[in-house]
Amino acid sequence: PEYEEPKEARRADVTYDDIGGMVETIDQLREMVELPLRYPELFTRLGVDPPRGVLLHGPPGTGKTRLARAVANESDAEFFLINGPEIMGSAYGESEKKLREVFEAATKAAPSILFIDEIDSIAPKRERVQGEAEKRLVAQLLTLMDGLEARVNLVVIAATNRPDAIDEALRRPGRFDREIIVGVPDEAGRREIFAIHTRGMPLYEDVDLQELARTTYGFVGADIAALTREAAIEAVRRIMPEINLEEQTIPPEVLDNLCVSRKDFMEAIKRVQPSAMREVMVQA
Ligand code: ATP
Repeated sequence: PEYEEPKEARRADVTYDDIGGMVETIDQLREMVELPLRYPELFTRLGVDPPRGVLLHGPPGTGKTRLARAVANESDAEFFLINGPEIMGSAYGESEKKLREVFEAATKAAPSILFIDEIDSIAPKRERVQGEAEKRLVAQLLTLMDGLEARVNLVVIAATNRPDAIDEALRRPGRFDREIIVGVPDEAGRREIFAIHTRGMPLYEDVDLQELARTTYGFVGADIAALTREAAIEAVRRIMPEINLEEQTIPPEVLDNLCVSRKDFMEAIKRVQPSAMREVMVQA
């Protein structure tokens, strides 16, 4: 089925080490998701139901998807993804069918994590919903959540940047009753994210990750990833004059000298703006 991740992609799956500035968030997620997935017997022993649904909320580009993939990977669980706006765009009746199919596939493949990105587009507050089709989709999602059997080892993680915009019924016990805030990174967090994204990048000694972190207030992970790519392009531009475009390959001596400098980053900072200056508070 189309929602199953190709094995190739899974091999390159992210781990907790690929997520910067989120030590506490990762701890929370491990306790809420990894523990029950790996050791369901803990909950059986105590006679309580393991968590079913976890809501991640935070602004775009802060790493919610990456976090969900990492916890799946580290828990040895299969990963299924539903993209809210995408499923909404389906033809009449199709959206509910797709939703049911993914839940079914994830149940079969358990232990698994089903990640619903931008859940607010599937399940907005019902009083704000106009179309019948939308109402039916919210109802379908609630039915599917309620239908998850306790013995099935499946956790549904949903992401939103507008927690106030989703249907309250979704937050009831047994549905998305746990919440984790994924905030905008602070300076230390940005430094860690820079370190992750420059891991495979040769840098000149004048590149100071702490300085980069200090000068990128308001940047989220996705912005830092974009900035790092831009700095690399800047480095390529800088060595362009040394490249003879008649040649098939770049001479090794030119390639060996290709590193990213502080100036490349500074040029990139001029061009990459943080995706938005958000009203969301910066983690203290
Ligand atoms: P959206 O809400 O827009 O889907 P998101 O919060 O799910 O965003 P991701 O899609 O996980 O964000 O992140 C986008 C990209 O930004 C990632 O592939 C990664 O390169 C980078 N990124 C975001 N946050 C982090 C982080 N904390 N550490 C390292 N990289 C990050």
